[in-house]
Amino acid sequence: MYIKGEWITLARNFPVNNPANGEQIGEVADGERQHAVIAIEAAANALPAWSSCSAYERSSALYRAHQLMMERQPQLAELMTREQGKPLKAATNEVKYAADFLLWFAEEAKRIYGETIPSARSDQRFLVHKQPVGVVAAVTPWNYPISMLTRKIAPALAAGCTVVLKPAEATPLCAIAVFEILHEAGIPAGVVNLVTAADPAPIGLEFCTNPLVRKLTFTGSTAVGKKLAQDAAPQLKRVSMELGGHAPFIVFDDADPVHAAKGVSLVKFLNTGQACISPNRIFVQDSIATAFIETLQQRVEKMRAGDGMDPANSIGPLVNQVAVDKVDRQVQDAVAAGATLHCGGKRLSEDGLDKGYFYAPTLLSGIRPDMLIYREETFGPVAPVITFSEEDDVLSMANDTSYGLAAYIYTQNLSRAVRTFEGLQFGIVGINDINPTSAAAPFGGMKESGLGREGAREGIEEYLETKLGGFSI
Ligand code: NAD
Repeated sequence: MYIKGEWITLARNFPVNNPANGEQIGEVADGERQHAVIAIEAAANALPAWSSCSAYERSSALYRAHQLMMERQPQLAELMTREQGKPLKAATNEVKYAADFLLWFAEEAKRIYGETIPSARSDQRFLVHKQPVGVVAAVTPWNYPISMLTRKIAPALAAGCTVVLKPAEATPLCAIAVFEILHEAGIPAGVVNLVTAADPAPIGLEFCTNPLVRKLTFTGSTAVGKKLAQDAAPQLKRVSMELGGHAPFIVFDDADPVHAAKGVSLVKFLNTGQACISPNRIFVQDSIATAFIETLQQRVEKMRAGDGMDPANSIGPLVNQVAVDKVDRQVQDAVAAGATLHCGGKRLSEDGLDKGYFYAPTLLSGIRPDMLIYREETFGPVAPVITFSEEDDVLSMANDTSYGLAAYIYTQNLSRAVRTFEGLQFGIVGINDINPTSAAAPFGGMKESGLGREGAREGIEEYLETKLGGFSI
């Protein structure tokens, strides 16, 4: 753990295993609630000095962190592949994406503007001032174990807040590597603190109930996000929630089915389907469904699963056995209810893959609303295809979910693209685009996918209070 500028070891540790082969790759301090208390106090004590540093000083520290992260891109990527499982190329891309947040918010730190507002009274002046929320408690997931940290830490530090972070128990080594960078970048003691723990619940409870914490930022499942929001509610803490998704991917009949199938094969199987913006229902207009499914099947059949350190593998392991079981349950449920299984549909065990958590890249068609996969987030390498005939029908089908994070549309018809973009109840929509994410663009969900936005201009607002000064002169 890293508290008040110092690395802390404990007698009690928990193991960290490589999900590709089950080998232990490290062990990490198993923190308890009292460590969260100490870390929060350290963050509260560091707040006055950090928040009164000039924006230029805070910006410089973030620039240094960005530079260090890019210098260490190969080592960080390798660590991520070993700890989280994604192929090395994807891990390398994630490190760049993570560093982008440090750079973006190094720049935004200098653009925290207030305003003056004319008053109806000639003897009055209104001054609107932005100031940091205060101590921020952050909880992050394992699927993007570096970028989800910088997406929170960078804007918080830029705004003048101090931070206590608890990473996912599956990927604490990536978090430690990020904090090593923040330490070397010269972020003062107590400004950023890391508490690792095998059991997240006591730490989360302290984050939600300690009155020194003024803001809770969480990325993870909707179920845990709701619980934390409830626990934080009695003190009316500010909360940001980046939660689960169930992205529709809509392919209209005027789109090129081959191009669309290539697009979906790339985004669906990214990170082995373990992404909150992963397509979870692929809607294809009936007249082009055959060509689309044929191309998608050819591409899925070519995907090779295995250890992400081998560049021939594009499909890494799932995070654990629970994830494998969940994916398999959804696939078997769909097949039993009449879905067509085109390829995959089983856990992989040949050539030593049984030592890891590998599931075969899978394509299903004939998916209906009564199947589990139509409703539950899959978080695995399964592409479920649904056919539709009318534009109006597909919009209501796509919106028929409690989630509202990402959606995708493939069409060449501009009016249809605009209509569908405006009608989708999702926070992020890719139009003929499978990667609508960037540090410069607002990321976040509607409905039960979350509250608030990360990245972009909006990202820093989550860590700022608006204060009005009314002056009689
Ligand atoms: P999870 O909710 O189980 O865990 C996320 C984090 O919450 C981990 O750090 C975990 O230790 C912690 N946690 C779990 N129970 C807790 C408790 N009682 N108190 C405090 N902390 C607790 O989710 P996961 O399985 O690790 O991550 C996958 C989920 O995250 C998916 O639903 C995915 O869609 C979502 N996700 C969302 C985004 C986004 O930006 N919207 C990004 C990545 C992942």
